[in-house]
Amino acid sequence: MRKSGEGKCRFCLKSFSGSAIGKHLVSCKAKMQKDVDEASRAKAPERIFHIKIRGGGEFWLHIEMKASSKLSDLDRFLRDIWLECCGHLSRFTIGGRAYMPSHAGDLRDMDARSMEVQLGKVLDVKHKFDYEYDFGSTTQLEGQIMAERQGALKEKARILARNRIPEEACANCGKPAVRFCAECDEFLCRACLGDHECEEEMALPVVNSPRMGVCGYTGSQDPDDFEPKVEDPDKAARQRGLPESLIRYQEERKQKNKTP
Ligand SMILES: [Zn+2]
Ligand SMILES: [Zn+2]
Ligand SMILES: [Zn+2]
Ligand SMILES: [Zn+2]
Repeated sequence: MRKSGEGKCRFCLKSFSGSAIGKHLVSCKAKMQKDVDEASRAKAPERIFHIKIRGGGEFWLHIEMKASSKLSDLDRFLRDIWLECCGHLSRFTIGGRAYMPSHAGDLRDMDARSMEVQLGKVLDVKHKFDYEYDFGSTTQLEGQIMAERQGALKEKARILARNRIPEEACANCGKPAVRFCAECDEFLCRACLGDHECEEEMALPVVNSPRMGVCGYTGSQDPDDFEPKVEDPDKAARQRGLPESLIRYQEERKQKNKTP
C-alpha cells in the first residue's frame, strides 16, 4: 500500500499526512474557535461525531455529523463525494450487523436492518464500521468515530479535511496524468491519450475518489469543497505539474475576483 496522502485542515489550512491529521483536528485552535462561536449562537447544543473514513490507498475524509443524523444521511454523503455512478446498493456493517437502504427490498431476506437509524443509536466513540458500495465492482470503505463534542452544526456533514488528489504519472512518458484507462489500468497524460489504442470512453478522468476508474465513475461536484474549484482535469494536472501554469491560473482567478 502506498503512503497515505496529505491533506489540508480546512480551518487553519495547514497540510498534514493522513496519519497525523486526525490528531491535529482535535487540537486545531482555528477549529476550536469556530466551534465555540457557532455553539454560542445555537439554541441547544447537540452531540456531534467526528468521523474518519478511509477508502484504501491515499483516500481519506474527516467529517463531522450530528449523532442524530441517520446512516442514510452518511450513505448519501459518501455517494455524493466519492461513489455514485449508477445507483448501486450499499451496506454498512456495524458490530456484525448489516444496514441497507430501506428501498433495497425485503431487508429481512438480506439479513439487514434499515439505514433509517440515527448514528448515535448504533455508533459511539472509538467504534468502527465497514461500508460497501456496489456488490458487483465493490468499493469498500472503513470508518471510525474519532471523537464526540457538544456543539452546533449547520450542515448535514461538515468536511474537516480530505486527502489532496493523488498525483499520478503518465504510464507512457511520466508527465502528470489526466485520465485513467479502465481497460488497461494505466494513467495517461493529455499528449499520450491521442495515441492510446483503447476506446475513448474507457479513459476516465483522474478524480479524488477511491472509485476512480470503476464502473465509468467520473466524479462529482464536491458537496463541501474548500479548495479552489478546478473543473477542467487538464487544468488540474497542469496546476500540479507545472509551476508557471499554476501562477497563470492563480492570476486568472485574481482577475476574475476583481471584476464585479
Ligand atoms: Zn487546523
Ligand atoms: Zn455503476
Ligand atoms: Zn504521457
Ligand atoms: Zn487503455
